Amino acid sequence: MGKKSLVVANWKCNGGIELVQSYLKAFLEIDGADVVVCPPVIFLTQLRALIRKNVSLGAQDLSAFEAGPYTGNISSEMILECGGTWTLIGHSERRALHLESQEEVLQKLQAANRAGLKTILCVGETLADRKSGHAVEKVLGQLDILREANDAALLDNLSIAYEPIWAIGTGETASPSEAQSMHERIREKVSSLGETLGGNLRILYGGSVSAHNCGSFLKEGDIDGVLVGGSCLNVSEFEKIVRICGSR
Ligand code: PEP
Repeated sequence: MGKKSLVVANWKCNGGIELVQSYLKAFLEIDGADVVVCPPVIFLTQLRALIRKNVSLGAQDLSAFEAGPYTGNISSEMILECGGTWTLIGHSERRALHLESQEEVLQKLQAANRAGLKTILCVGETLADRKSGHAVEKVLGQLDILREANDAALLDNLSIAYEPIWAIGTGETASPSEAQSMHERIREKVSSLGETLGGNLRILYGGSVSAHNCGSFLKEGDIDGVLVGGSCLNVSEFEKIVRICGSR
C-alpha cells in the first residue's frame, strides 16, 4: 500500500473564534489522508475536539529552548500539553521575517524531536534563485542540517514541505512537473542519509494550493501531500482539498 497523503493547514497569523468554531464542525476524517491543523497556538486547546485517528493538531513554530527567560517563546512541552503533536519548522516567513538561521532551524528540529513532536521542515527557493538556475542548490543546501543532526529518530519523525517562496500566497504555483522534479531531488538527498528513510519520507508541496489545483500535484509520484496556507482559511475549501488528497 502506498503512503497516506499528508494534508496540513497553516492558518499563519489569521483566524479567531469564528474560524475555530467552523473547524470544529468540519469533516476532516478521511481514510486516505492524515490531516494536521496548525492554528495560532493560542487556539490549540479549543481545537482539541478535532483530534481523531487521522486528524492532529500542530504548531507553526516552537522555541529551541525547553524553558527559561525567552519572552514570547512557546516550548515543545507546552505544545504537547495543549494537544499539539506536530510542528512546522523553518517556514520561509520565519526565515525571512525572523531571520531564522540554519543553525536555529536545526536546534528547533532537535528540540521538537527530544519532546516527541513530529516535524515538517519547510524548504524553498526565492524567485531570484530560480531565475539564476540555483533553485536545486538552494533547496538541497537547506537540507544539509539533516546530515549534521545525524539522528535516526529525528529523521523518522520528519516530513518535508517544498514551498517555492515565489508561490507562497501569490496565487502562482510551481507546475506539477517542476515540483515533482524538486521532490525527486529532495528524496534522493534524504535517501543518501539512510536507504529506507527516503522511501518512507512524505514530501509535501506548498504554494497557493487550492481545491482546484491540488489533484494535479498529488498525481506526481514524489508528491505525498500538500501544505495549505490561504485556502485553509475557508473550511469548505480545505475539506475539499482533504477529500481530493485522500482519494488519490
Ligand atoms: C504556506 O503558508 O506555507 C503557504 C503555502 O501559503 P499559501 O497556500 O497561502 O501559498
